[in-house]
Amino acid sequence: MQEKTVLITGAAGFLGSHLCDRFIAEGYAVIGMDNFITGDKKNIAHVLDHPQFQFIKHDVTEYIKIERDVDYILHFASPASPIDYLKIPIQTLKVGSLGTHNLLGLAKAKAARILIASTSEVYGDPLVHPQPETYYGNVNTIGPRGVYDEAKRFQESITMAYHRFHGLETRIVRIFNTYGPRMRLNDGRVIPAFMGQALRGEDLTIFGDGLQTRSFCYVDDQIEGIYRLLLSDYSYPVNIGNPHEITIKDFAEEIIKLTETTQKIIYKELPVDDPLQRQPDITLAKELLDWEPTVSRTQGMETTFNYFKSLNKNEWYKSEH
Ligand code: NAD
Ligand code: UDP
Repeated sequence: MQEKTVLITGAAGFLGSHLCDRFIAEGYAVIGMDNFITGDKKNIAHVLDHPQFQFIKHDVTEYIKIERDVDYILHFASPASPIDYLKIPIQTLKVGSLGTHNLLGLAKAKAARILIASTSEVYGDPLVHPQPETYYGNVNTIGPRGVYDEAKRFQESITMAYHRFHGLETRIVRIFNTYGPRMRLNDGRVIPAFMGQALRGEDLTIFGDGLQTRSFCYVDDQIEGIYRLLLSDYSYPVNIGNPHEITIKDFAEEIIKLTETTQKIIYKELPVDDPLQRQPDITLAKELLDWEPTVSRTQGMETTFNYFKSLNKNEWYKSEH
């Protein structure tokens, strides 16, 4: 049987590059697409010459032309860290809207199945806890985070419209905070932020009082969930994340212990609309995909810290992308 072809957008990013590895390992022909706006060629350097891999440098908000047949599309292109999407708000809105429209059009033309990367941010600052897929969310459309949250909400809506109107095979994964090797040390998300500070001998910056919560999922678990969802026959959104919730303050203490830093915690202002609590309800993923996370935070954090430690020291001090 001829190998199936998968197009992965955001391929040079954190999750996209891990997806490329997974699909190559499963025997697929992989086309990676990225414009490097928040990604890094280094994340895919090891597969650039792989016979199953082809890379196309392209901005997905522009018309996408692919000559080959495509069986699956995974749309992961989008800034994902608050400091990234606050720095490039218009591109964030465009990649979620125009970019998604282009990819849906491509999926229709190729009769391909498409999975889009949505986010727990569609729930905003949630009033229901933990968050099941049936919760409609609490998003401030005009706040600074709205550019990301609303782009992702629009992305879900247009994806369902293509499913209903054109009969396109669609999948929607709502990803909750995921971490692991290949995150950018300077991307501002809490794990690279704290670990970078520990490596540089700086104090750890907690935003707000640190009582806000998050639930962190290790990348291998996330990729497994996404892989199973793609191959399932379920068209509606599915939460994929780790329900083990922790306050940011306790999390900072865990990182201080893990990194053996002698630095202290300092407090800074809480960003506008920073969600106070977040925990995925993964009942649906368990039932539908027989999936649940298997990597403990202790294991995952250790692997991630070892990755950051192993980077060239210049990387530790890079402040701008
Ligand atoms: P990332 O920034 O590491 O990767 C995103 C990639 O998309 C980058 O390589 C970037 O260059 C590329 N990109 C952005 N705009 C593009 C465009 N217009 N054309 C082509 N490429 C473009 O982020 P990530 O953490 O890997 O996130 C990947 C996806 O998963 C995003 O859609 C994000 O919203 C979603 N997500 C991630 C998390 C998480 O915790 N990591 C949580 C929720 C949702
Ligand atoms: N945070 C923090 N210090 C930092 C970076 C982030 O206290 O240096 C907090 C942030 O305000 C949020 C949580 O950590 O409450 C997770 O932030 P992140 O940017 O990783 O992702 P979010 O879940 O907010 O999208």
